Amino acid sequence: MSFAATSSPDGVRRPDEPSGSPDPYVPGHGTNAYRVTRYELDLDYKLASNRLNGRAVLHAEADRAASAVVLDLAGMRAVKISLNGKRVRKFSQRAEQLVVVPDAALLPGDRFTLDIRYEGNPAPRRGLWGEVGWEELTDGVLVAGQPNGAASWFPCNDHPQHKASYRIAVTTDVNYRAVCNGLLISRRTGSSRETWTYEQDEPMSTYLATVQIGRYDVLTLDTTPVPGSVPQHVAVPGALADAARRGLARQPEMMRTFVNSFGPYPFQEYTVVVAEDELEIPLEAQTLSIFGPNHLNTDWESQRLIAHELSHQWFGNSLTVAAWSDIWLHEGFACYAEWLWSEAAGVMSVADRAAAAWRKLAAGSQDIVVGDPGPELMFDDRVYKRGALALHALRNRCGDLAFFALLHDWAANNRHASVSTAGFIQTADRVAGIDSEALLHPWLFEEALPALPVR
Ligand SMILES: [Zn+2]
Repeated sequence: MSFAATSSPDGVRRPDEPSGSPDPYVPGHGTNAYRVTRYELDLDYKLASNRLNGRAVLHAEADRAASAVVLDLAGMRAVKISLNGKRVRKFSQRAEQLVVVPDAALLPGDRFTLDIRYEGNPAPRRGLWGEVGWEELTDGVLVAGQPNGAASWFPCNDHPQHKASYRIAVTTDVNYRAVCNGLLISRRTGSSRETWTYEQDEPMSTYLATVQIGRYDVLTLDTTPVPGSVPQHVAVPGALADAARRGLARQPEMMRTFVNSFGPYPFQEYTVVVAEDELEIPLEAQTLSIFGPNHLNTDWESQRLIAHELSHQWFGNSLTVAAWSDIWLHEGFACYAEWLWSEAAGVMSVADRAAAAWRKLAAGSQDIVVGDPGPELMFDDRVYKRGALALHALRNRCGDLAFFALLHDWAANNRHASVSTAGFIQTADRVAGIDSEALLHPWLFEEALPALPVR
């Protein structure tokens, strides 16, 4: 696969990446020239007009010499920028980038603070993965950032390997609730506007940052039967509250199953947002997941999705791929988590789930490389199912004790960090004492489907 070389909007070629991006799955997105360590976002949003006035303060550090700071920003207009407290006169925007030109070039190790005022009518970005980013609901807002929707609502260095802490404050109409990542630290009510401020201390990738706005009440699920559990909330329109309680009744048990299988839950709380509108698929964000009312049934199809999204808090959110090509480390693991819950809930054993998935894969075309599926196929169901089967093959080879020790070790030693397939193979070799490269290679890097793993 090749990508056209790009130059930045003002014609200043990015000096750092020949391809214009550190990741070929999202060409033109993100840069390794600098790292943002903290985002402070103040968003003023009017629902009726879909008008967003934003202020983003980015605390960053340069990793390379650069004459310009290139940010991702799509469909919003930057109006005023300062760098280290000094007004920047020279900045420009084209397509999906904002280029800020400081008076003096940045040197490696330079710490800097960008203060960017911006405004516009945010809209989802259309691309390979349908519509992603800031999206208006019938009566509210949903943000689906994966993989490149973050730039639709704030200026950022948009790549999963760059993690930062966040403070997100949203001011919007009263009678609505804004739900963002992390802990709600303040709520300030005026006569017609209300401000909700959240603090996300644990490092977070840009695509996992989110804002959900709706006429939401907050329920808290009963987690007393689950020792060591974190608070679990549900933000839901009042009319859907009973359906949400029914649908999510077993989520505290799912949490216990996953804590036993993977180790401690990696954040301080977990919130499920139930939008009023039906959604095609649920979404994960850091510390929360977003479902439609159509995902709240008690049948397996809904319950597996509830388990799937919860497990992403470990695999995807705490442990995040450094490159999108390794997406099976999110989706294969989340699919395997579904199977673990299926067995714990007495629905169907992991072995039977694996056999059913294998039969389906065997009947379909075998033309995907799960360990590097390409951007078009990164969310293909085969990445999920075959990724989960790769884990099942590993488990059958090394036994339950070593397999779950491996998952605990993997989750603990990479907590809130970036991960790769190579790193997983190293960990598996060390913890399970097997040649995991030889075992996993046919599953991840060859097209032909290996035989069904059995004990
Ligand atoms: Zn998933």
